[in-house]
Amino acid sequence: MKNTINAHDSILDLVGQTPLIKLNRIAESLTGNFYAKVEAFNPGHSAKDRIAKYIIEEAEKKGILKPESTIIETTSGNTGFSLAMTSMVKGYKCILAVSSKSSPDKIDMLRSMGAEVYVCPAHVSADDPRSYYEVAKRLHLETPNSVYINQYFNELNIEAHYKSTGPEIWEQTAGKITHLVACSGTGGTISGTARYLKEQNSNIKILAVDAYGSVLKKYHETGEFDQEEIYPYRIEGLGKNLIPTATDFNMIDRYLKVTDADSAHMARKIAHSEGMFVGYTSGAAMQATMQYNLEGEFTEESNVVVIFPDHGSRYMSKIYSDEWMENQGFLTEQHQVEAKKIEY
Ligand code: PMP
Repeated sequence: MKNTINAHDSILDLVGQTPLIKLNRIAESLTGNFYAKVEAFNPGHSAKDRIAKYIIEEAEKKGILKPESTIIETTSGNTGFSLAMTSMVKGYKCILAVSSKSSPDKIDMLRSMGAEVYVCPAHVSADDPRSYYEVAKRLHLETPNSVYINQYFNELNIEAHYKSTGPEIWEQTAGKITHLVACSGTGGTISGTARYLKEQNSNIKILAVDAYGSVLKKYHETGEFDQEEIYPYRIEGLGKNLIPTATDFNMIDRYLKVTDADSAHMARKIAHSEGMFVGYTSGAAMQATMQYNLEGEFTEESNVVVIFPDHGSRYMSKIYSDEWMENQGFLTEQHQVEAKKIEY
């Protein structure tokens, strides 16, 4: 036995270095080899721990944050939880403006982690004074000694993944990765990871996942911001009603859209087939992988890494509730027939 105490300095030491896990039963009918980068293994249970820790520590290095400073952010939940966790460890105050679309579990969790939470209406435009962007901006102006993280427009969001997620995946796959499938919300995860991977091997294909009701896919394809693309949808954290500068569209080869219903069913299937209790966007990423497969993106030699962004426990009252699924109309016979088109 060693004569020293084997302990981490704080919970923040455990951010990153998440496992890459082979997908077995769910990927049986697919062409190629499939691996999940399971971000629920972060201490705050999502990929957002990486950006919270990185952005806060960069601000500390630059002297922007001082003792008792306030961290302010807009968030669909995960970034808020990670910022609250990081703020509590480091002794900062954390104020969050969240969308009313966020699950009640997530909002309760933010408050439990010590954040002050403002719930703002989901379906108003970004420049409406009631939107969570505008509320956060106002709070930032009104709160002395505060820092606005602004994840959608913060280059450090990309850099956090460039410095952690990208190198981890390259190492874990021994450089054999051929495709990355990742959700596009702020775009930080896919852009930063892709930038690192493409620097190592420019042939790696970067496949993005978008939601119906979001502008990202069309913008990537045409350079056009089309207001007509925007309508409400249920998946949290995926897609957007504006163009985030934290997305480097040049890094992305293709976008594909997934439905709320397919993604919800797929998350449940991941739990039942792989024993991985994952969140809604993990279902979306897997659903997109199935669709990319049907479109012939992969060969037998493909090594595909799919990022699973967060944990299923945050969606108990949503996709893991039969009642919620029923209320959304996701348990229709039509959908069961559609679901059977993909064999497992
Ligand atoms: N999944 C979930 C659950 C998220 O909260 C987010 C962040 N909005 C994403 C995926 C997308 O990640 P990114 O913002 O890095 O594009």
